[in-house]
Amino acid sequence: MNFQLEQNPQITLNDGNTIPQLGLGVYKVGQDIGVELVKTALDLGYRRIDTASIYDNEIEVGGGIRQSGIAREEIFVTTKIWNDRQGYHDALEAIDEGLARLNIGYVDMLLIHWPVPRQNKFVDTWRAFEETVATGRVRSIGVSNFHPQHIEQLVEHAQILPSINQVEMHPALQQTEVRVANEKYGIKTEAWSPLGRGMFSENPVITEIAKNHGKTAAQTVLRWHIQLGNLVIPKSSNPVRLAENIDVFDFSLSADEMEQIKTLDSGHRIGPNPETFG
Ligand code: NAD
Repeated sequence: MNFQLEQNPQITLNDGNTIPQLGLGVYKVGQDIGVELVKTALDLGYRRIDTASIYDNEIEVGGGIRQSGIAREEIFVTTKIWNDRQGYHDALEAIDEGLARLNIGYVDMLLIHWPVPRQNKFVDTWRAFEETVATGRVRSIGVSNFHPQHIEQLVEHAQILPSINQVEMHPALQQTEVRVANEKYGIKTEAWSPLGRGMFSENPVITEIAKNHGKTAAQTVLRWHIQLGNLVIPKSSNPVRLAENIDVFDFSLSADEMEQIKTLDSGHRIGPNPETFG
C-alpha cells in the first residue's frame, strides 16, 4: 500500500504553499547510497526530502529525484544554508550553489540552518532569502533552530514571515515554548530527530502504547508528532524502516495516550544549544 500518496496530509503554510506532513531526512546519508535511497523512498510513497548543504548529498538527492520518473512538482525538497554562508552576499552565492548541486530547477523550501546569535547575520541572510523567492527559484523560506527571541528579531525586519521553524523535537524535548512562539506567526513547527535517534525503542510508556495499536515504538512516536500537528522528517536508510516510518496514517492515539507521552518531556537535548552553536 502506498501510504504517502493515500494518506499523508498536505499542510498549508502561512505563505499559501502546501507541504506533505511527513518526509524523509537525509542527514548522514552518504554519497554512495544517496541516489538509490531517494529513489527507494519515492518508490515507497515519500514525496518530501529534507537535505542541507552541510549534509554533502544535495547532488545525490537531486539525482535520485531526476531518476525517479516522478514529476518534479509532486516532490517537495528542502535544503538549508550553513552558518559560514550567512550574510546577504554570502547567502545569495550559497543559494545559487545549492540550486546548482540539486539541479532540479527550484527548491520548495530554503532554511537558515542555525541562528548563530554570536555572528548576528540572520536578518541580512533573510533579505537574500526574500529576494530569491521573488525570482521563483525558491518557493518557501523558513528557519531552523530558532528560539522565540530569534523569531521576534527576524520578524521585526522581515517582509515575508518564516513558514516553518525546524527544531529538535521528540518526546524527551517537547519544545512547548518554541511551538507557542511559532504559532503566534502561523509558523509550522517541524521536528528534527523526531525519533530521538531511536532513543524510545524500549521506552516502557511508548512500547505499551505501541502494543495497544499493533504498531512499533517508532510508529507510535511519529503518530504523536502527526497528531500534535508537527511536520516530521524521520531518517532511515533501511528500506524496511522507511516503509514502517510512513505507515502511520491508519491509527490514532487516544487523548489519554497523548497525555502519557506528554509526561516523557525531560528537556533532554541530543543536539547543540541554538544559543551558543556556530
Ligand atoms: P531521527 O530521530 O530521524 O533518527 C534516525 C535514526 O533512528 C536512524 O538512524 C535509526 O538509527 C533510527 N530509526 C529510524 N527509523 C527507525 C525505526 N523505524 N525503528 C527503529 N529505529 C529507527 O534523527 P535524525 O536523523 O537526527 O533527524 C532526522 C532528520 O532531521 C535528519 O535526517 C535531517 O534531515 C534533519 N535534521 C536537522 C537538523 C537541523 O539542525 N535542522 C539537525 C539534525 C537533523
